[in-house]
Amino acid sequence: MRWSRPRQISKAFEDKWKGKLEQAAGKSGDLGLGAAVREFEALEDLMGRIGSFAGLTYFSDTSDPANGKLYGDVQSKLTDMASHLLFFSLEMNRIEDAVIDAALQTDMLAAHYKPWIVDLRLDKPYQLDDKIEQLFLEKSMTGASAFNRLFDETMASLKFTIDGEELPLEVTLSMLQDANPETRRKAAEALTATFKANLRIFTLITNTLAKDKEISDRWRGFTDIADSRHLANRVEREVVDALTAAVKEAYPRLSHRYYAMKAKWLGMEQMNFWDRNAPLPETPNALIPWEDAKETVLSAYGAFDPGMADIARKFFDGGWIDAPVRPGKAPGAFAHPTVPSAHPYVLVNYMGKPRDVMTLAHELGHGVHQVLAGEQGALMASTPLTLAETASVFGEMLTFRALLDKTRDNRERKAMLAQKVEDMINTVVRQIAFYEFERKIHTARKEES
Ligand SMILES: [Zn+2]
Repeated sequence: MRWSRPRQISKAFEDKWKGKLEQAAGKSGDLGLGAAVREFEALEDLMGRIGSFAGLTYFSDTSDPANGKLYGDVQSKLTDMASHLLFFSLEMNRIEDAVIDAALQTDMLAAHYKPWIVDLRLDKPYQLDDKIEQLFLEKSMTGASAFNRLFDETMASLKFTIDGEELPLEVTLSMLQDANPETRRKAAEALTATFKANLRIFTLITNTLAKDKEISDRWRGFTDIADSRHLANRVEREVVDALTAAVKEAYPRLSHRYYAMKAKWLGMEQMNFWDRNAPLPETPNALIPWEDAKETVLSAYGAFDPGMADIARKFFDGGWIDAPVRPGKAPGAFAHPTVPSAHPYVLVNYMGKPRDVMTLAHELGHGVHQVLAGEQGALMASTPLTLAETASVFGEMLTFRALLDKTRDNRERKAMLAQKVEDMINTVVRQIAFYEFERKIHTARKEES
C-alpha cells in the first residue's frame, strides 16, 4: 500500500484549516465552518475505510502474521494521519458558544452538522492542551491499543484440552451448552486449566489497562471511574446508577429465583457453574442448518416490514457475513459498520445451536440499523452503545417471536421461553454484574496508585 497520498491529504487539510476555524465560523459557503466539517468528514470516511479493511482482515484470522502486520502498520499510519487532524476538534471546542450558535444560524452546511458539533462540545471540559493531546494520541499505540491487541491475539491462540484433543475457544465455550452434563463439566475444567496457565499474562494486561485508564482519567479530570464511559455513551451517571440499583435490587426475584427453578428442572440440588447455560431436557437437539437460520431471520424481519428483510438479505447475497468457525478467527460476534461509503460486515461463529440463530438475528439487527444510519454520513452515522443495542435486541425479539409462534409443542415452547429468559438475564443482570466487577477492579487499581 502506498501511504504518501493519505498523509498528503491530511497534511493539506491541516495547512488549509489550522488556526482558521474561528474565522470560518463567520463565513459560509466554501470558506465556512460547514465546508471545513464536510472536508473533515470525507477524511474520516477514508480513514475508517482503511482501518476497517485492516481490522476485518485481521479478525478473520488473527493467527496469520501477515494480517497482524497489516493491522499494526495500518494503525500506526492512521495514528500519523489522525495527528494532523487532531487540531480540528480541539480548535472547534475553543470557539465561543455564541460564535458557534451564530454559525449554525447562518451557514446551512454547518447547521447540517449540528448534532455532531453539539456532541463534540460535550468533550470540552475534559480536553487538555494541544501538545498533551498529541502525546496521548501517539502514545495510545504503545499503550491501551497494544495491550488490547495482545489480549485478542492471546485469546485467539489458546487451546483447550478435552479427552486429549486440543480445541479452540469457541468450540470449547459452545460445549458449555451441551445437553450432556459430563461434556459441560469437561469443557468448564478445560477452560479453567488453560486460563489458569495464562494467569500471569491476563493479570498483566488487566493491570496495565486499568492503570492506563487511571492515568487518562486523572489528567482529564474525570471524577468517577465510569464517567468517561458514560460520556462516550451519551448517558448521565444518575441514569446508570438508577439502572444498576434497580437491577441489583431485583437479583433475588429474577436471576436467583430463575436458577433455583432451573436446578429443579435439571433434577439437581444445586447447579454447578457449568450448568448455567445447560439446555433444558425439552430443548430440541437437532442442529439448525445455516439455510434454515437464514430463512428464519429473514421471514421474521419480513413479517415486521418487508424493507427490513430486503436490507438483511443483502448481507447474505452480498457475502457480508463471515459465519463458519475457523482456527484463528476472532471469537464471539459483531456487526462492523465500516463507513457509510461502503457497507457493514457481520462476524458470527455459527455452529447451529438455537442460540446461534438468535446471535445472527441480533447482529443483523445491528447491520440493518447501520445500513439505515449510513445516510447520516461518516460523522453522524455512529450511535452510542446505549442506542445501538435497541436495534439488535429488536431484531432478536422479532426472530424469537416468529420461532415461538411456529412451535406447537408445549414442552418445546417451555424450553424456548426458558432460553429467552436466560438470554435476558445475560443481557441485563449479568451485564450489571460485569459492570460492578469492573468498578471494583478500577477502584482497587486507583487506590493502589
Ligand atoms: Zn449487540
